[in-house]
Amino acid sequence: MRILVIEDESRIQAFVRRGLEAEGYGVVTAGDGYDGLSLARSGDWDLVVLDLLLPGVNGLRVLQELHREHPQLPVVILSARGDLRTKLKGFELGACDYIAKPFALDELLARVRVQLRRAAPPEEDDHVLHAGHVVLDLARRQARVGAVVTDLSDREFRLLHHLLVHVGEVISRERLLADVWGYDFDPGSNVVDVCVRRLRQKLGPDAHIETVRHAGYRLAAA
Ligand code: CA
Repeated sequence: MRILVIEDESRIQAFVRRGLEAEGYGVVTAGDGYDGLSLARSGDWDLVVLDLLLPGVNGLRVLQELHREHPQLPVVILSARGDLRTKLKGFELGACDYIAKPFALDELLARVRVQLRRAAPPEEDDHVLHAGHVVLDLARRQARVGAVVTDLSDREFRLLHHLLVHVGEVISRERLLADVWGYDFDPGSNVVDVCVRRLRQKLGPDAHIETVRHAGYRLAAA
């Protein structure tokens, strides 16, 4: 994990650096807004700690530029300006947290940890397919939507698997019938609709299994 600290007071800069390094983070510091912004742009950072009253480019300006270019990058403001207006401005410009000076190092470290956890991508592995809110565990044959985990019947599992592999595509009933049920099924059968209904009941509305009129079904990508 790499953290950029933009802070002009050398005492605080060193204090924050030592604290973060003791937690195992890689830390680079910048002492003014110009350096901070150019380092922030050129590097691959997991988080930025940003002072507001900076020589060169003002911290709020740095934040604004940075957030426009890297909206996913968490920026924690660390500032002596603890007034509500400045705080709100910081959040409006994209900061994810705001710590007023003077501050306790432990609090800074705790807040940094929270932001890094939040920003971490979901764990990927070969046994999981996911799209939008739906996660399908291939080994356990379970679906998860948000915090709710559901066991699936064999047919439900295969239907959901098919929708996930073809996420965003409209898949006709005929194709689902052929691919999931096999060609020996009566094409006039409503088993697909029944199974989709059951899946929707089990997974809830967040799963976004859409009916496309006269065409088939589609699992929305988000
Ligand atoms: Ca300052």
